[in-house]
Amino acid sequence: MSEAAKPESERRKFRAIKGTRDILPPDSALWNWFEKAARSVMESYNFGEIRTPIFEETELFARSVGSDTDIVSKEMFTFPVVPSAHELALNLFEGQQQFNQEGDFVSTDDAQRFREEKAGKLVSLRPEATASVCRAYIEHGMHTRAGDQKLYYIGPMFRRERPQKGRYRQFYQIGAEVLGTSDVPAIDAELIEMLTVLLERCQIEKYTLLINSIGCADCRPKYVELLRAKLREPEIFSKLGADSQRRVETNPLRVMDSKLPEEQEIIEQKLPKISEHLCADCKTHYEKLKKELKLREVLFTESPRLVRGLDYYMRTTFEITSPILGAQNALCGGGRYDGLVEMLGGPKGIKGIGFALGEDRFIDAIQEAKKIHATRPVDVFVAWMGERAYPTAVRLARVLRGEKHTVELPPEETKFRKALERADKMGARYVLIIGEDEIASDMLTIKRLADGKQEKISEEALVDFFRPPVPSKEGPGN
Ligand code: AMP
Repeated sequence: MSEAAKPESERRKFRAIKGTRDILPPDSALWNWFEKAARSVMESYNFGEIRTPIFEETELFARSVGSDTDIVSKEMFTFPVVPSAHELALNLFEGQQQFNQEGDFVSTDDAQRFREEKAGKLVSLRPEATASVCRAYIEHGMHTRAGDQKLYYIGPMFRRERPQKGRYRQFYQIGAEVLGTSDVPAIDAELIEMLTVLLERCQIEKYTLLINSIGCADCRPKYVELLRAKLREPEIFSKLGADSQRRVETNPLRVMDSKLPEEQEIIEQKLPKISEHLCADCKTHYEKLKKELKLREVLFTESPRLVRGLDYYMRTTFEITSPILGAQNALCGGGRYDGLVEMLGGPKGIKGIGFALGEDRFIDAIQEAKKIHATRPVDVFVAWMGERAYPTAVRLARVLRGEKHTVELPPEETKFRKALERADKMGARYVLIIGEDEIASDMLTIKRLADGKQEKISEEALVDFFRPPVPSKEGPGN
């Protein structure tokens, strides 16, 4: 039996894949509002948008995010690029072209690419975007452009994590990167200031900005040895969980990051703090960063626990958490990665700093903070009745939409009582009534739904009636 012939209860239904979700109106209006706010804040700091592909070579992420991180080792959606039958056929043809007239073998880029693909090159859906931004920066020689490159991106990221509230397998990030030859702390501070401006715009007041410096290739290894020695002390080692015990040898920095309740006291009180073991240059950089933040009236808390395990991360790291989010309380994370561009094959001496914020979590925080729910109210509901009223209704709906009002025009004639009910349900503010009487008298009726007040106006007065534009209710602040 065909699927359509079955009763509805037996027809196969599709659901969004685990860890992914749909964002529907009216919630999508809040997402749009937030993205607009983020763009406007970042553009006011002279950042320009970069759009990169959603999948890249797996190797790019393995090298930049780190092949022993959870993200790369367990959480990426990876698939081989298998040549299609069509490509195979094409290659046969190209194969003949690989010999020139003298009969010498000529290697073409396409043939080379084909061979790589045939060898089963792996690609992955991006778990984050810094790697892609750096890849694009190198690929397009952006270091030859004038000044620092200040770039931002908005888009979906993919990680095969265990889904829960605030944690998805497809989630959305907004991030910014500054790439260039300078690493002055004012760059770091301005980037962080920009984030606090965005938080303010979203009216998220309850948040903590944590900062730390994780030193450089000079001072960090010495600190790591000191930390390892401390962690090996029997009275400390014996109190660590199995994961941390393992990390004492493999990556002791990550012990600082542990969330295990029984390790918290040790981490807070017994372990050395990297900020106290920085080399002179890193120390000066960190002190200047703090001064710059104060200058910008950005409140921060120092957290020795903010660490990153990869060599090219250095100096400034920061995170923004919010208590209103529950278990997944990180809104945003960022830091300096001065060695990354070079490590990905780019020019020497290019420094970078960036952040990525979780859009899903920002939306939750905006809704929590203000207890507002996304609404995209209808400004004007056009209730029309009668064949003679219809052309006027169509024309006036267009005029009002041209004035940027949200207008609902029922596609079919609806009895006024029904139309008013629907307008009310939609949260419309005004109903524009156009019936036989209105057409005969050349006057329109406008009803304000909040108090039922009704008045008659001429068509010429209509646009002015709604001016200044009804303020948009989406997003916080209204
Ligand atoms: P990260 O790239 O891990 O530093 O993450 C940056 C930000 O992205 C975090 O602070 C979160 O707000 C957000 N984020 C990371 N992973 C997820 C996820 N699986 N679901 C939702 N948001 C996430």
